[in-house]
Amino acid sequence: MSADDCLFCRIISGEIPASKVGETPDAIAIRDINPQAPYHVLIIPREHIRSLNETTDAGLLGRLLLFAAGLARDAGYADSGYRVVINTNADGGQTVFHLHLHLLAGRHLHWPPG
Ligand code: AMP
Ligand code: ZN
Repeated sequence: MSADDCLFCRIISGEIPASKVGETPDAIAIRDINPQAPYHVLIIPREHIRSLNETTDAGLLGRLLLFAAGLARDAGYADSGYRVVINTNADGGQTVFHLHLHLLAGRHLHWPPG
């Protein structure tokens, strides 16, 4: 299912251009348009899922994490380190309501996050 007014569905369909860095049968990875680290990629399932609250698909979630780890490894960040984040709803800072993982690397990331 896709949502006509969803930014990430429109990127997945090709209607809106994006800088794609990888894809799998059920997800794509694109460069974040407003990067918060030298390497900032979004891993987006092709299926329109509003947030982490709206899925129980453990297989899909596992594949998204493994996709992120593979991208980090291929980009050379496995040893230096990286972060994978899923912002969920208002307090989590979610602004695009189509599930996505942020993969951040290339600088020391502070903890706790802001
Ligand atoms: P979140 O705040 O977790 O929902 O993350 C949404 C992310 O999408 C933000 O980091 C934005 O910078 C990013 N974003 C918004 N529009 C685009 C776009 N057209 N292409 C790539 N990334 C985008
Ligand atoms: Zn969508």
